[in-house]
Amino acid sequence: MPLKTFECKRCGACCAGESTVSISSKEIQNISQFLGLSTEEFLKKYTLLKSKTRIEMKIQDGYCIFFDTIKKICKIHPVKPYKCKEWPLTPIIFEDEENFKIIKNFCQGLKNFSWKEIKLIKNIAKIKNSSKLEL
Ligand code: SF4
Ligand code: SF4
Repeated sequence: MPLKTFECKRCGACCAGESTVSISSKEIQNISQFLGLSTEEFLKKYTLLKSKTRIEMKIQDGYCIFFDTIKKICKIHPVKPYKCKEWPLTPIIFEDEENFKIIKNFCQGLKNFSWKEIKLIKNIAKIKNSSKLEL
């Protein structure tokens, strides 16, 4: 079976909602630098403290504050948080078909993938990690 490649359709669904991803201190540093801001300025302008240990991007008009609703792109793409980079190929979709179906319904880029094809991607990723081959 030929391996399909995931292609983001820029629907913006993963950047919309009531909350966004949590960001680590390293990510805060990287994003602040990228924006030419001090960490304090970045935190004040763009983030919310959700709990003692959880900092998230602010929401603006129903989307993460860094989502460009016209161009449908992430304004901090080169330094976006790890969870944004890995989405939607997160470990949970490889673990369970039901998880895969839920995320498939939500993400336009997964619409044409079957459970079999997703498992194949997981196996190829494993081979890639163990052999360091460029696939
Ligand atoms: S939900 Fe999927 S297709 Fe839509 S922007 Fe996010 S990754 Fe891309
Ligand atoms: S940082 Fe970028 S990719 Fe992540 S939720 Fe915000 S707009 Fe989307």
